[in-house]
Amino acid sequence: MIDIALNISTLKSQIPPSVKIVAVSKTKPVSDIMIVYNSGHRIFGENRVQELLSKKDQLPFDIEWHLIGHLQSNKVKDIVPFISMIESVDSARLLIIINREAEKAGRTIDCLLQFYIAREETKFGFSIDEACKMLESSEYNVLKNVTLCGVMGIATFTDKTEQVREEFISLRNCYNLLKEKYFRDSDRFREISMGMSGDYPLAVEAGSTIVRIGSLIFGDRIT
Ligand SMILES: *Cc1c(COP(=O)(O)O)cnc(C)c1O
Repeated sequence: MIDIALNISTLKSQIPPSVKIVAVSKTKPVSDIMIVYNSGHRIFGENRVQELLSKKDQLPFDIEWHLIGHLQSNKVKDIVPFISMIESVDSARLLIIINREAEKAGRTIDCLLQFYIAREETKFGFSIDEACKMLESSEYNVLKNVTLCGVMGIATFTDKTEQVREEFISLRNCYNLLKEKYFRDSDRFREISMGMSGDYPLAVEAGSTIVRIGSLIFGDRIT
């Protein structure tokens, strides 16, 4: 038997209070989410828009939802009215669309730039050069309805500790470079979202400010 309430409290005791936990509830029922909610937790993450939409209507309004999976441009308008943070902004084009839909909805959306850090797998995301190119472009500089709050990355799924550590450090270096070059005066640009159930201790060691934890809280996913 898994004890979800115990899992979240154990996790919280193991992570510095300055590091935010996104409870990743993908594939899990709203009843499981409510156990975590009732423990006082408010930040939850989903990777699919359709699943997020159907769950959030059955759950309390004060949940802060983070989108953590690849976002198709035609679905942006569905989440913009309520989303707290889009962690998975993986192209300049997507950021422009988020800005356009956010403007229509009268909101400003907090976003993270997703970086490609995994050596082996194909994952969505910017390279550092692509990110710099975007941040220096005139298109980016007129965006008024998005706030860039930092970076996000997914390490290679491997038990090679040194490789995962290097990938996390490479993401931290991306963050540091962008902070120094473009966001020195922005106190909103301060997040490094990295670390999942299997690798969060390494991520926290490497300077993570947000960890995204699913199976360690809710139990394994049957997929
Ligand atoms: C599923 C998922 C997680 C959480 O994975 P666990 O290994 O279950 O903790 C974190 N980040 C992203 C982007 C995910 O898709």
